[in-house]
Amino acid sequence: MDSNAGISARSVAGMGWLWMVCFFHLVTSLEEILLDTTGETSEIGWTTHPSNGWDEVSVLDDKKRLIRTFDVCNVAEPGQNNWLRTHFIERRGAHRVHVRLRFSVRDCASMHIVASSCKETFTLYYHQSEADLASQELPEWREGPWTKVDTIAADESFSQVDSTGKVVKMNVKVRSFGPLTKHGFYLAFQDSGACMSLVAVQVFFYKCPAVVKGFASFPETFAGGERTSLVESPGICVPNAEETSTTGSSGIRLHCNGEGEWMVAIGRCVCKAGYQPIDDERVCQACPLGFFKVSVGHDPCLPCPAHSHAPLPGSRECVCQNRYYRSPMDNSDAPCTGIPSAPRDLSYEIVGSNVLLTWRLPKDLGGRKDIFFNVICKVCPAGSSGPCVRCGDRVQFEPRQVGLTESRVQVSNLLARVHYTFEIQAVNLVTELSPEAPHYATINVSTSQTVPSAVPMMHQVSRTTSSITLSWPQPDQPNGIILDYQLRYFDKAEDEDNSFILTSETNMATISNLSPGKIYAFQVRARTAVGYGAYSGKMYFQTLMGGERSDMVQDRLPLIVGSALGGLAFLVIAAISTLAIIFKSKRQETPYTDRLQQYISARGLGVKYYIDPSTYEDPNEAIREFAKEIDVSFIKIEEVIGSGEFGQVCFGRLKHPGKREYTVAIKTLKSGYTDEQWREFLSEASIMGQFEHPNVIHLEGVVTKNRPVMIVTEFMENGSLDSFLRQKEGQFSVLQLVGMLRGIAAGMRYLSDMNYVHRDLAARNILVNSNLVCKVSDFGLSRFLEDDASNPTYTGALLLTESIKD
Ligand code: AMP
Repeated sequence: MDSNAGISARSVAGMGWLWMVCFFHLVTSLEEILLDTTGETSEIGWTTHPSNGWDEVSVLDDKKRLIRTFDVCNVAEPGQNNWLRTHFIERRGAHRVHVRLRFSVRDCASMHIVASSCKETFTLYYHQSEADLASQELPEWREGPWTKVDTIAADESFSQVDSTGKVVKMNVKVRSFGPLTKHGFYLAFQDSGACMSLVAVQVFFYKCPAVVKGFASFPETFAGGERTSLVESPGICVPNAEETSTTGSSGIRLHCNGEGEWMVAIGRCVCKAGYQPIDDERVCQACPLGFFKVSVGHDPCLPCPAHSHAPLPGSRECVCQNRYYRSPMDNSDAPCTGIPSAPRDLSYEIVGSNVLLTWRLPKDLGGRKDIFFNVICKVCPAGSSGPCVRCGDRVQFEPRQVGLTESRVQVSNLLARVHYTFEIQAVNLVTELSPEAPHYATINVSTSQTVPSAVPMMHQVSRTTSSITLSWPQPDQPNGIILDYQLRYFDKAEDEDNSFILTSETNMATISNLSPGKIYAFQVRARTAVGYGAYSGKMYFQTLMGGERSDMVQDRLPLIVGSALGGLAFLVIAAISTLAIIFKSKRQETPYTDRLQQYISARGLGVKYYIDPSTYEDPNEAIREFAKEIDVSFIKIEEVIGSGEFGQVCFGRLKHPGKREYTVAIKTLKSGYTDEQWREFLSEASIMGQFEHPNVIHLEGVVTKNRPVMIVTEFMENGSLDSFLRQKEGQFSVLQLVGMLRGIAAGMRYLSDMNYVHRDLAARNILVNSNLVCKVSDFGLSRFLEDDASNPTYTGALLLTESIKD
């Protein structure tokens, strides 16, 4: 077989690993004619042997055209061997040739004279040769040098000729042979005794025409040498097409079969990105302007997505228009998108000390679904003087400051009285690509917008028949620098509308020009730069009756100074008294009073203040608030140890159920008391009940639901200091005495911190327990009604200091 004969159909079919597409009769085959006697009118001149065998004759065909035929009809003589040989036929690259014969054969039976040697067949041979070397003798007229193609029988023999002698039944037969390898060949027709006419001989071969298929072009290819041959032909992708990689093999191939038909395509080409298929897979056409094709394949070009354009033909993707972008996460065929507009309806809410910022989604999301928010916090100087600066790390953002997916953020750790500006930026995945700054919404939040809270309470410092001096702590939440306080007061008996206003720059004020013995209602409120806070609740204070002694501390100051009670206790009382005087002077010495206010304010933080029970309209309310009612059955009175102003003082025991028993002192209110006496007696308990200090006598409780009314305090085994010192004179070390003094000073300091002015510190009002702990007692109000003549108290106090001197 010829080496160019190609692969057989069977071997192609065995390439199971190839991606194959079979095209049977893909393209009509082409016949290339090597020889054709049809239509010959002049002598053809083929060689015959022997000379009385074949004969070239001219006849008219059925259309009355002159044709040349080769006839033989030696049927009467047996042993016929008549050869007719063609000219040398050049192969012209053919591997296999086909011979189409038109002939007629006379029916032997119709010829009565014919011997049994009559045939109705003839034999076709071929002989290959590199050159036209044949002669009358050579190749020899036998099968050896000639290769038999086939014995050809007539399908249609005929028995008669018409009146014109014309053949009435024509046969057409095609025979093929190959592979051919030499330059050319001869054909020979051997007659063995037939009566026939060879009307036309055509010699041709098949070739597969040049073709463009599947975006690949294949050259013209000659059919193979065998009937089953498949001649492989390599293809080349058409312009702007590329070999698809899905074949798993390299090379595009088509196969030309023995009939000149293309079949069995291996591999294929597809249009490149930017090019679309047209013309039945023959051409890859560039995408027109405004269209794109992103990938290699058979898809058509598509119009550019939103906000993009294709300025050149053959675009594999569309370029984003100005100010539109694709994020790295977007596909190249995705629409181009922009940055979002600013968040809408940004608002804030102050929740405790935090600020809650909320907003709505931007109107324009830039054509994207992803949207995030960043918070920028700035501190801006008040009155737009100077640039804003970024908030420090201290400020906290919940859930986070950057990349918020929700439309809210809580900001905490903000400073008070600061102007903040918050910017909420809207960003998306293309914000980074845009030279444009993100759009944002701004809001100003001032943490100084809050007015001060209400003043929690007021208490009376002193009073006269025409004035009351009140003080108060600063509000729990000043929310700024307090500029001043406004005091509102009115006569309780009169209409509230007839109130008076007084402004104080400190947290103390003296209200003058009041009427004696009248109850007034007071309210106070603080003012900062933001405005006034709420008024405190109403509190009632009464001026002294005409003829009553002044409650003012400084009135008693000379007495105290003049007393012999020295040391720390004296210093404490002197300091408190001095403070009281300074307060009353109402900012005559501003720097000093400023300091004073700070001192009081600082102490005021978180510290309880003493409340004057006389400011309660109903004294029972005060006693209920400050003293615990004790069930009388828990008390056991054992002996009388002294006598007080309102009745006996007893020693006893207090035992609450399930608790330890205490020794207690029990002051009783003698029977036949007046309302006034009852009120004054219990007021001491209301005062004492507000104190809790190791050097201040401790109130256990009161008995008001049974008679006699009682005040129950801790029991001080050594009684009052003055009598104790007298009894034990000379028995104490200086250390012990100083320790006692320090205890008294601590108690007084505590009372002073509570804003309570004792006003009657004396040795007789100090009680001593078994451990020599001194405790301040006697918080009765009635003592001021008594004469303030020198009494043993001061003598006792003197004894103490004298003892120390010793
Ligand atoms: P008073 O009415 O507070 O002056 O008390 C009268 C006297 O009773 C005092 O001088 C003390 O001797 C005595 N006394 C008062 N309270 C107590 C107490 N808690 N413990 C011991 N003795 C007390």
